[in-house]
Amino acid sequence: MPGFEVFGDEERKEVMDVLETGVLFRYGFDQARKGRWKAKEFEEKFALRLGARHCHLCSSGTAADHIALAAAGVGAGDEVIVPPFTFVATIEAVLAQGAVPVFAEMDGTLCLDPASVAERITPKTKAVVPVHICGSMARIDALADVCRERGVIMVEDACQAVGGSYKGKALGTFGALAAFSFDPVKTLTAGEGGAVVTSDDALYARVHQFADHGHDHIGNDRGAEGHPITGFNYRICELNAAVALAQIGKLDRILAIQRNNKAALKAALGKISGVTFREVPDPEGDTATFLSFLLPSENEAREAAQALAKAGLPGVFYWYDNNWHYHRRWDHFKTLAAPFQTATALAGGKITADTPRSDALMGRTICLSIGLLWTEADIAGRIQKLESVLCR
Ligand SMILES: *Cc1c(COP(=O)(O)O)cnc(C)c1O
Repeated sequence: MPGFEVFGDEERKEVMDVLETGVLFRYGFDQARKGRWKAKEFEEKFALRLGARHCHLCSSGTAADHIALAAAGVGAGDEVIVPPFTFVATIEAVLAQGAVPVFAEMDGTLCLDPASVAERITPKTKAVVPVHICGSMARIDALADVCRERGVIMVEDACQAVGGSYKGKALGTFGALAAFSFDPVKTLTAGEGGAVVTSDDALYARVHQFADHGHDHIGNDRGAEGHPITGFNYRICELNAAVALAQIGKLDRILAIQRNNKAALKAALGKISGVTFREVPDPEGDTATFLSFLLPSENEAREAAQALAKAGLPGVFYWYDNNWHYHRRWDHFKTLAAPFQTATALAGGKITADTPRSDALMGRTICLSIGLLWTEADIAGRIQKLESVLCR
């Protein structure tokens, strides 16, 4: 799954390029940098690959989520609809803007259910944030339709879905804005890094300004630049951008390996009675970083996950009991421990999440991560362990 599995000379070369100039800053130093602009180069390549007009690299996927929501105009008192199954950063970004996260149900895709989103939109709803969790897509066209009809902004959290698509269109290009992550365990890694993608020129201006204290990035004298808005420092470092640049050249190879390895496991699991799979609206666009399957009951799933781990199978996740990917165990977050005081006050002191249908699905779901370095023998060994635990 993670891009670090395929590090090599390409990453070393790009990083050395930067170290040879000594310019780690992504802006300016035009003379000293000898024409090396790693962040810019990545942004152009990534936007082109996605079919988006603009990409802005930033310091993390969390930063990308925050920048995207800020650029979308999400602010104090707004409601933002989020899925129950994501990484907690999606929701931290909502709180950072002083907005209130509202959980909607997920469906068999393990992503936001368009019908539940439609039900939970209120006059206060400003944005909906679908998350393409574990590398497979939400019903993103239906979600886009709901958002359009109801006049709310869609911001995709595509942090886990780099390289994915739905009916030939890249994930991350359905919303007004999208966030990607290149953290140490994502499909492409920069060490730390993220990106915001948009095809809207005005939103793009807000994105790169917000990520750099409001600098307008006009001209090449940083000291003389205007500051139309305020913002933060969410800048990427050229060293991280250099790693990302090497990694993007490997994306197609990574996806091909993942799809092959996932298909092998899925074919074997499909023969076991009681096993069903997460719905994937367009299997051709699946990034295949994970294989998610369901067992008939919560008890069976929890016990099977434990038995698989005990049998020595690495990369088995039972997210229902996990405390950073599914909201059920996010106590620190639901009681809104400081410092998110604006959101705390506006939400009336606590966040509630009423998602019984999602709980029932998540309780039955086991997720397996898909490796890039597996040999045929590794795959056969994994299948054998899966069969020994699940065939009864
Ligand atoms: C990883 C991730 C993030 C945050 O990305 P970082 O680069 O780790 O800050 C946000 N949302 C989702 C769904 C993620 O998986």
